[in-house]
Amino acid sequence: MIYFDAAATTKPSASVLSRFEEISTRYLGNPSSSHALGREAMRLVDDARKEMLSAFGLSKTHQAIFLSGASEANNLAIKGIAFQYQNRGKKILVSDVEHPSVIAPAQQLSDRFGFELVRLKTDEWGRVSPKTLEEAIDDKTILVSIMGVNNETGAVNDLGALANIVHRYPKCYFHSDLTQAIGKIDVPYSSLDLFSFSGHKIHGVKGSGALVYKSTIRFLPLIDGGGQEGGFRSGTVSPALCASLSLAVKETIEKQETNRILVAALKEHLLEGLPYEEALLNSNEEGSPYVVNFSLRRHKASVIVEALSEEGIYVSTASACSSKKEPYSEVLLAMGKPMEVASNAIRVSFDEDNTVEEVDAFLLALKKHLEEIRKR
Ligand code: PMP
Repeated sequence: MIYFDAAATTKPSASVLSRFEEISTRYLGNPSSSHALGREAMRLVDDARKEMLSAFGLSKTHQAIFLSGASEANNLAIKGIAFQYQNRGKKILVSDVEHPSVIAPAQQLSDRFGFELVRLKTDEWGRVSPKTLEEAIDDKTILVSIMGVNNETGAVNDLGALANIVHRYPKCYFHSDLTQAIGKIDVPYSSLDLFSFSGHKIHGVKGSGALVYKSTIRFLPLIDGGGQEGGFRSGTVSPALCASLSLAVKETIEKQETNRILVAALKEHLLEGLPYEEALLNSNEEGSPYVVNFSLRRHKASVIVEALSEEGIYVSTASACSSKKEPYSEVLLAMGKPMEVASNAIRVSFDEDNTVEEVDAFLLALKKHLEEIRKR
């Protein structure tokens, strides 16, 4: 099997799984219970939070809410901030190529709750320029959300420069979806007011994620109940998920540089070997080494992806989340690509366990299938 779909999900690491199992089996208590078992469980959650914030270098300035994943974190960031701070202004800016879990809540705020939504255009590689942000932001803007790394193309935004612009507006917060960025690129964590991510993209467990935020920020909760997680997200907290998430964060940040070198070699090898008479690149060289996106010029990408899958090579057509809904990529369309390009994209996404030999096998198989289709 060749698995080139790490942007969709990764395998939990052995240490993450063993921490998950150990906590699940040894610690029975509900962290909200007031007896000793509950207190012990709560201590695990608190320790996980501290360990995770310290891995980001944010122990003093930020807090974290443990959630089910990046979709929930993005929803809480967008709606939770919008509803909490709507008396400051009702304008929200998001980049045009955000994940649906950012675009959809922002769109809902605009369609149903009277917010003004501006979708920031990107350049041809899917990046938001500081100038575009500067032209759109104003005193009524309360939230700007721009992702660190795009999940379909690997486009990297200059979060430091973008955050500096937002911080000229004291009533506005800067949120970034870092699902594809943590452990992969250098992120100016302390410049961000809030950021979201999922555990399963960084060798953690599916169903875990977090929203990290500056300690002074408040949210209108989306899920009310017992008041867990500082009142911002009710529901019984899982010490095993929290501890495994925090370990996954620590491990991925520690290995960032070693992994980057390994994966950059894979991207370089793939870019050298792609058949450019058939393939048009949608990712640029400055993008994340973890994601390479190209469109087939003359053939249906879905046919090739299926043929590759039949021989145990797994890549994706668009992002895993949108591929069931739309036969084309909204992201590529937003980047100004024509429909033929947006509907024939292939995304190859790596992790550090992939090898150059696998890239060779993928290239060979890709060329073989393209050749077979050409002969039909
Ligand atoms: N944001 C980005 C950039 C993503 O890649 C994903 C997963 N495809 C998400 C958010 C949502 O993550 P999850 O499905 O784990 O909630």
